[in-house]
Amino acid sequence: MTAGVRLVVLGRQGAGKGTQAVRLGKQFDVPHISTGDMLRAAVAAGTEFGLRAKSVMDAGQLVSDEIMVGVVDERLHEVDAVERGYVLDGFPRTEAQALALEKITSEHPIHVVLNLEVPESVVLERITKRRVCTTCGRIYSVDAPPADPWRCDLDGGEVVQRADDTEEAVRKRLDLYAAETLPLVGFYRDRGVLCEVDGLGSPDDVFARLLAAVEAVRQS
Ligand code: ADP
Repeated sequence: MTAGVRLVVLGRQGAGKGTQAVRLGKQFDVPHISTGDMLRAAVAAGTEFGLRAKSVMDAGQLVSDEIMVGVVDERLHEVDAVERGYVLDGFPRTEAQALALEKITSEHPIHVVLNLEVPESVVLERITKRRVCTTCGRIYSVDAPPADPWRCDLDGGEVVQRADDTEEAVRKRLDLYAAETLPLVGFYRDRGVLCEVDGLGSPDDVFARLLAAVEAVRQS
């Protein structure tokens, strides 16, 4: 395998996917590409696209495949991703996106798709308790608030509940995940690139499992 590494992280909302994907990016010195973060940046920037995306996201629905494929296609062709690789987080979410990703990466295929497994009952509780720093994105929980509630320990930013982390929107996202995204586990298993990782336990333990899974593929 070449120096770079191209990873996809799949997993239910609240499985710890985002945090682990950031760490994997640092570990392998590749960009962490999160479609959720990209959409939230567009919302914060107040672009027309951002405004349209916001209403879709707040309702717990999916942004259209066509738009998401365009966004990811462009991002994966930026020089850092081409030269070093990436950790892709939040994409693909539908079979149409997975098929589009195969085309986008036909010359430089994904090395491994990591599926972080956490039961639905566990994630529902985690996400409704989740709070996030509006400036740096650091994640907190009602059970583990910042020292000065609710100001971020890192940069003093306001720590809030994401507009799409209400129980109703979360349930909708979990249903959508089951219907649209879960079938991708079989899709990638059939292609021989799937690696299932137990997402229960401490974040450090889960990270160690993810690293072991990537290293196993790198050695092969
Ligand atoms: P979570 O995994 O916690 O739901 P993300 O940060 O990955 O959150 O995404 C937030 C929202 O952004 C999603 O609920 C969806 O509306 C939109 N989104 C992100 N990625 C995609 C995608 N690949 N396809 C469609 N919509 C997306």
